[in-house]
Amino acid sequence: MSEIVLTGIPAAPGIAIGRAFILDKQEFVVPPRSIMPQEVPVEIARLEEALNIARTEIDEIQKKIAEDIGEEHAKIFDGHKMVLQDQTLIDEVIKRIEAESMSAEYVFSEVIKKYAKIFEKMEDEYLKERVSDVSDVGRRVLKNLTNEHKVHEFDNLTNDLIIVAHDLSPSDTASMFNKRILAFSTDIGGKTSHSAIMAKSIGIPAVVGLKDATLRIKNQDPIVVDGRKGLVIINPTSETINDYEALRTRMARFRDQYENIKDLPAETIDGEKILIEANLELPEEIPLIQERNAEGIGLYRTEYFYMNRVDLPSEEEQFKAYKHVAEAMAPKLVTIRTLDLGGDKFLSSLHIPKDMYPFLGWRAIRFCLARPDIFKTQLRAILRASHYGNIRMLYPMISGLSEFKKANLILEEVKDNLRTKKIPFDESMPVGMMVEVPSAAMTADVLAEHADFFSIGTNDLIQYTLAIDRVNEQTANLYEPSHPAILRLIKLTIDAADKAEIPVSLCGEMSGEPVLALILLGMNLKEFSMSPQSLLQIKKLVRSVKLADAKALAHDVLEMTTGEEVEEYSRHRLMELAPNVFDIESES
Ligand code: PEP
Ligand code: MG
Repeated sequence: MSEIVLTGIPAAPGIAIGRAFILDKQEFVVPPRSIMPQEVPVEIARLEEALNIARTEIDEIQKKIAEDIGEEHAKIFDGHKMVLQDQTLIDEVIKRIEAESMSAEYVFSEVIKKYAKIFEKMEDEYLKERVSDVSDVGRRVLKNLTNEHKVHEFDNLTNDLIIVAHDLSPSDTASMFNKRILAFSTDIGGKTSHSAIMAKSIGIPAVVGLKDATLRIKNQDPIVVDGRKGLVIINPTSETINDYEALRTRMARFRDQYENIKDLPAETIDGEKILIEANLELPEEIPLIQERNAEGIGLYRTEYFYMNRVDLPSEEEQFKAYKHVAEAMAPKLVTIRTLDLGGDKFLSSLHIPKDMYPFLGWRAIRFCLARPDIFKTQLRAILRASHYGNIRMLYPMISGLSEFKKANLILEEVKDNLRTKKIPFDESMPVGMMVEVPSAAMTADVLAEHADFFSIGTNDLIQYTLAIDRVNEQTANLYEPSHPAILRLIKLTIDAADKAEIPVSLCGEMSGEPVLALILLGMNLKEFSMSPQSLLQIKKLVRSVKLADAKALAHDVLEMTTGEEVEEYSRHRLMELAPNVFDIESES
């Protein structure tokens, strides 16, 4: 079998060598479990109970949605109910439990898979779409059968594997943390999709946008994932494997050199102190963040707390999680961002069709303002946690002053309520906003008079300014952080914050890329927040250059007319100013 090289988009660095596991057709990964014949009635009773719980859950969700956003939206669940009442399906599961002496969850998952396939093949578009009802109901009943609060698909893996999928949601990627997953590759997706960001955070190599990898790779094929160049190699020769193993060793040695700067300050040669903080998605990342000595959490993406589950997190649950992060990091700063739902971050628990909150749609703060019930629960939890550490709070996707004020009105209401109940919180907790919509950057001078701090979200700022979907592999090559429009918007924001004397940080992926970080440093950015994997490399960069040189570079690139020119010139200057920072991963 000859070696085949597939080229995609590098999403998270690193090399993995292993066997492929095609995830696409295996949505319900339930291991077979045989039972004793006398256990059959128990399994059938368990099945019936799980179906009943699912029916009650769906009734409740439907009622709540009808009250909150209208009868029309609640109707989506009629399809779910039909599946749960389908006697043919239920009878088939019962008969197979009896005939095969297998567990209810295993048989149920098999039957659901079969039904999903039948719907998938239907000619009729309406019936074809019912496949998602079948899958949703399947997941819900399985959750009840296995008593799993969270539905993780990767818990059952028993060997180290490389996941090959058509697409992965950020919550799929989040559930790969500490599982036996060496790397992943997907057919679709872009460099700053949240699946890619998550892969970087949890430290597994990833390549996205491979277009047809799931068609070309077979289960158990030996493959190499090269996350720095965006390659997937099928059936690698022994020479390729040897080369990659050698490269992996060199990369590990290269990274070791960063270890000795862990405890040193992030200070430029000419004495400018820079704050280097970490982005956090999962509380499980805290040990790594602490080990790398991040100077705080510049962005806590709380939406992951809402994902991978069938219900919404309660105030108490959220309070405990935020308190835990605040206490673990104290006295360092923890920046908690309120729920940034939408785009590629999609919550199964809300049961709202995906197309209602695309990137330009009803997402983030817009969603929270429309659903004060969900928003207030989170605000209460954050405020209560603020009593236990150094917390500041951040609203996502603010597009103008009125949105910020509206959010603050709700915040005031929640604060009053806590005061009445004598529940302690930090009265002076700073409240800031993400600057990630061009309209916010353009009016940064106005917003800076009201916000306690800014956090620039370049992942979104780039997609909204350049009109490029950040998760679309077809436009990935147009995603250009060095575009003059982006640099100008960032400069506007930093200057406005400086003038109003409020802190400004940047928490998009740009922060962790040495060439771009050098430009940002020169634009007077003093606070960088990034994936924990990039912390030491960027600290090394800061410690290797003079602020004056970075400023001269920023001055030059702000005069340039194309992103390519900026990129090329800055790369060249970085090589000159800090050759020791260039990661081995960018070797050609
Ligand atoms: C951003 O948009 O740059 C950002 C940091 O937020 P997110 O990636 O979660 O959208
Ligand atoms: Mg964003």
